[in-house]
Amino acid sequence: MNWFNNLIATILPIVPRPIVKIFSRPYLAGESVDDAIRVVKDLNAQQMCATLDLLGEEVKVKEDSLNALKIYTQILNAIDREKLDANISVKPTHMGLKIDKEFCYTNIKSLVELAKKLDNFVRIDMEDSSCVDETIELFLRLRKDYDNVGTVFQAYLRRLLDDINTTLPHKPNLRLCKGAYYWEKRDVVFKEPEIVNCNFSYALEKLLSNDCYVGIATHDEKVVWQGLKLIDQLQLKPEQYEFQMLLGVDHELRRIIVNEGHKLRIYVPFGKEWFAYSVRRLKENPKMVNYIIGNLFNKILGRKQ
Ligand SMILES: Cc1cc2nc3c(=O)[nH]c(=O)nc-3n(C[C@H](O)[C@H](O)[C@H](O)COP(=O)(O)OP(=O)(O)OC[C@H]3O[C@@H](n4cnc5c(N)ncnc54)[C@H](O)[C@@H]3O)c2cc1C
Repeated sequence: MNWFNNLIATILPIVPRPIVKIFSRPYLAGESVDDAIRVVKDLNAQQMCATLDLLGEEVKVKEDSLNALKIYTQILNAIDREKLDANISVKPTHMGLKIDKEFCYTNIKSLVELAKKLDNFVRIDMEDSSCVDETIELFLRLRKDYDNVGTVFQAYLRRLLDDINTTLPHKPNLRLCKGAYYWEKRDVVFKEPEIVNCNFSYALEKLLSNDCYVGIATHDEKVVWQGLKLIDQLQLKPEQYEFQMLLGVDHELRRIIVNEGHKLRIYVPFGKEWFAYSVRRLKENPKMVNYIIGNLFNKILGRKQ
């Protein structure tokens, strides 16, 4: 079925928006702050915490970053007001990285400062490889003054171990994921899935055994198992790590992780820029098409997800 999945992923950008919207609905919280807050409340009621991502990236004008900044500010205040268990994830290019590095730094710093006041946390997402140097630089600059900021490392990157060695002395709080930018070249990323998994496990061991807080972000049960093995080997306490998954993916696995007593955070994307996000997700992971079709069939047959 791979050719079929790839075909669907390739033609997706020209599929009418309303159809993409039907496919991507389970993976998005909605368009407004209220939608996002409603989804977080529901997750919290299921003993899952959340990280909220306002959709948008690669902005071309400062005004778009400033608008995003306003919405993130509303979100942080709403989390505080409603006493929700959630933080925020921000993309550097949404905050203006490609327009002006200093402008981006100031924007993210203002969110980290507000989050600090509200006893909350800001995660700086990792984008494609053209952003890695500047994202790590931004993170380390903020990390000097704040302990409520973290970033993301991608296991597919060949440079991962070097980046870990550079950041380890600063006790980073990291999300570790496989990496989503499927078009990266072979000299930049490992293309072989098995090597990505080995790199993930090796990096995870290095981070956890050096006392870093890690968000183990994956839906791959083999990688989840590697995490569980390390948690046991290192006798980690629940406050030393968490698992993370994307909204709408593998509800059974997320319930298993929570029932086994581990902290689980769900990444909750929301906002008007849902189209680009949905297309990327489907293209980056064509297997998702099987799940969508499966979900549709389950719905038709009236089964629970
Ligand atoms: C919380 C979180 C935050 C992330 N943040 C970033 C980031 O900042 N930067 C970045 O580059 N990437 C990020 N990613 C994406 C990540 O890099 C991968 O692209 C994505 O998670 C798929 O990898 P996987 O570990 O699930 O393994 P895969 O091998 O891709 O998938 C493993 C299995 O999980 C299931 N699965 C995976 N995805 C889906 C899906 N969409 N729908 C249904 N089932 C699915 C399937 O069973 C699949 O076989 C994030 C992922 C998570 C979970």
